Amino acid sequence: MKLDDKGLLIVISGPSGVGKGTVRKALFEREGHDLVYSISMTTRKPRQGETNGKEYYFVTKEEFEKNISEGKMLEYAEFVNNYYGTPLDKINEQLESGKEVVLEIEVQGAMQVKKKVKDAVFIFIAPPSMNALYSRLTNRGTETEKIIKERCEKAKREVGLANMYDYIVVNDEVSNAADKIIAIIRAEHARTKRTIDKYQKMLEVK
Ligand code: 5GP
Repeated sequence: MKLDDKGLLIVISGPSGVGKGTVRKALFEREGHDLVYSISMTTRKPRQGETNGKEYYFVTKEEFEKNISEGKMLEYAEFVNNYYGTPLDKINEQLESGKEVVLEIEVQGAMQVKKKVKDAVFIFIAPPSMNALYSRLTNRGTETEKIIKERCEKAKREVGLANMYDYIVVNDEVSNAADKIIAIIRAEHARTKRTIDKYQKMLEVK
């Protein structure tokens, strides 16, 4: 029996290089869950293999700023000299129709969502160690030395903000991390604040 018809807004953050993208993909391969991924907008250039409208909507700085001024972003942030943000359109509709909407965003953006959407669920993907994180960032091979250094610095600061989240999921192994997120989704749907209204109505004597 489902007491909570609305989907959850699930915010997943974690430092660059922690493997959020891989965890998210593993999560989306799990069956029996109505998950949708919110495709972000960015001014960063596409990496090799990335396509517009799949990983991101790749736009110019001017286009991004126009979206901000027209109030079309749920949140946005500047990350290592580029804008990244979540387009608002469709999110509410998807939540109302029972879909779990997953945002994979950095910490400043997550804190904006926290202020705006009180019942969103915040999950921090943490590295098993800082060394593991630095070596992933260095070995990714997609960024220049300077950018890698900036991302390592940023990662250190981001790990320090994990206490702002509802859950910390250590990415020791991708399938473990995905299992934990599924468990969180199940538990969140059973929370009293999400179920009590329907439950009380259901028990009303006619
Ligand atoms: P990357 O350049 O590696 O794809 O992403 C850099 C960082 O930006 C990552 O931490 C990623 O989670 C974050 N990011 C991606 N999309 C968004 C977004 O829509 N909003 C915010 N605030 N951060 C985002």
